[in-house]
Amino acid sequence: MKKYSLFQFCLGFILILGCVTWGTAFQNREAFRIGEITVSPGEMKSGYLDVPEKGGIGSRIPFTVINGAKQGKTLALVAGIHAFEYPPILSLYKIKKMIDPAELSGTLILVHIANLHAFQKRIIYYNPYDWKNLNRVFPGDPEGSISERIAHVLKKEVIERSDYLIDLHCGDGNEALIPYLYWMVTGNEKLDQTTKKMALAFGIKHIIIDKSRTKDLSQSKYLGNTSVLLSTPAITTESGYLGRTDQKAVLRNVKGIMNVMKLFQMIEGNPQFTEEPVWIDHYEVVRSDHDGLFFPLTEMGYYAAKGEKIGYVTDYFGEVVQEFYAPFSGMILYIVNTPPANKGEPVYEIGRVKEK
Ligand SMILES: [Zn+2]
Repeated sequence: MKKYSLFQFCLGFILILGCVTWGTAFQNREAFRIGEITVSPGEMKSGYLDVPEKGGIGSRIPFTVINGAKQGKTLALVAGIHAFEYPPILSLYKIKKMIDPAELSGTLILVHIANLHAFQKRIIYYNPYDWKNLNRVFPGDPEGSISERIAHVLKKEVIERSDYLIDLHCGDGNEALIPYLYWMVTGNEKLDQTTKKMALAFGIKHIIIDKSRTKDLSQSKYLGNTSVLLSTPAITTESGYLGRTDQKAVLRNVKGIMNVMKLFQMIEGNPQFTEEPVWIDHYEVVRSDHDGLFFPLTEMGYYAAKGEKIGYVTDYFGEVVQEFYAPFSGMILYIVNTPPANKGEPVYEIGRVKEK
């Protein structure tokens, strides 16, 4: 039998040890199962989350999972809760092309278009089969109407599977909107610090400090709020407006997402944080009391003084039926910029800038 030198013996031992360690590390990284799909470490797969039919109406939610080869956190990115909001939807297709599963630490869940019916029919706010706003029916109900069932599937398959979540929005098809985001403050110090970091890493300058959301999970209404109430840190972002697909809004999202991924060490690089955020400590969504036509008198981003006239609603004969005045001095975060006005629907949102 050939004799081995001590050097050769040691080298062999180190090699075997290395293989065992590498193999164990890889085995520890589990496949990610979602819907009907299993995604192995280092793989990217797409499919649909099924929203079962009831009363002849079901839906499906297109998604992609990128399961990184390396250990790490799970981040969910949700677009198309409001399906006439295009920049969030388009930015996720860019992210899908940019991320290499072999280089990724952790898992990305991309929900491409949460409200597919509304996307196909080009409808703002609502799902055309129950005329409910998906972002007002969380946490959802498996026995409820179609929007409630979509919300339930997103809660079970996305929120509850994720460590962090970003709900991506913009001005809907009728809304002129400046980029801003909601930092939902819960009172849970640790969670709030995490979401604050996410908000600053996303890179949008105007940040609403939102303490207005309910703490009652059964009434959580919003995807972002449901997520934080289930202890999954989340932010809700707004970038883009009026049904446009402008690249500036798309790239703002892409940059923000990549930076949040750096924050959670899912990709390499140091995260950048917004250096001079504009904090908004109070906001109000102002609604029309009438059906008719809305006429804005200001623009998105305009700084209105308290009592300043913001716009008015007329009836279908052109007679003024309601006038709107700023309830406090603040910035117009969004303002409806197409004529239809509906009783109970927003006409603008104003935010008060926090004093330093
Ligand atoms: Zn929205």
